[in-house]
Amino acid sequence: MLYIYKHIKDIDNHIVNAKKMGKTIGFVPTMGALHDGHLSLIKKSKKENDLTICSIFVNPTQFNNKKDFEKYPLTLAADIEKLNSVKCDIVFTPSVAEMYPDGYTIKDKIDFGFTAATLEGEFRPGHFDGMAQIVEKLLLIAKADNLYMGQKDYQQAMICQALIKKRKIKTKLYVCHIKRETDGLAMSSRNVRLNTSHREAATLLYKLLKKAKKQLQSGKPIPEIENEQTEILTNTPDFKPEYFAVRDAETLDKISDNHQKSKVILVACWVGEVRLIDNIIID
Ligand code: AMP
Repeated sequence: MLYIYKHIKDIDNHIVNAKKMGKTIGFVPTMGALHDGHLSLIKKSKKENDLTICSIFVNPTQFNNKKDFEKYPLTLAADIEKLNSVKCDIVFTPSVAEMYPDGYTIKDKIDFGFTAATLEGEFRPGHFDGMAQIVEKLLLIAKADNLYMGQKDYQQAMICQALIKKRKIKTKLYVCHIKRETDGLAMSSRNVRLNTSHREAATLLYKLLKKAKKQLQSGKPIPEIENEQTEILTNTPDFKPEYFAVRDAETLDKISDNHQKSKVILVACWVGEVRLIDNIIID
């Protein structure tokens, strides 16, 4: 049975009781409009914990673009059905007032340094501050032993790891692999906003990531790889790339040495009015 809570005091009651009984808790924070990517995290949590909590909250403070926030898909009834289908135990769907009773100000802001300043940080100023603020609030509520997030939001997962460390939160983060549509497009709640031709064209992102991976492995210089894909994206009708970057997978630093061990290639690109991100790790 799926318990649905809107208020912190109610979910808290449930969690405190579960903890007293020695149950382990797995937590999957989401913004709803659930797809198989989200469900894969919930399934993993179900396997590894006694109790799985999913939160659905479209967090206003992490949207630097008002239109993006207003257009974010809301599909609560369908989400609840999907959560039931994977036997999720608890869903937490608070209101904005419940999560921000004192307004949006961040009291004790964490400086995540370069990890938060580069890539997404450059193009979405304030995004990670808002994201870290809500994840910290949710982690305090969920009191989770294990937290499940997607590699799809690579930089976000890195920042959550830093948040857990800096705030000394006793939760272990697991970063789970990217679920893709059969044509390779990374699943995303935003995909439903793509029109038919943009949806088809969007498969280019993963194709370019795979091509760049091959080029990297065959020794092509990194700036050439980055420029080549950026140019292809720029020349594709209705595409507007923000970055296509090969980075150090541990630090997100720029790389000069092609033989460096673990790398990640990340892309962010507007396809029509929808901003998509994707990445690929090279071990
Ligand atoms: P969101 O609802 O977009 O905030 O995502 C909630 C969580 O699901 C985040 O940890 C995402 O990284 C993860 N996620 C989103 N898309 C995917 C996907 N295609 N595969 C696996 N996890 C995903």
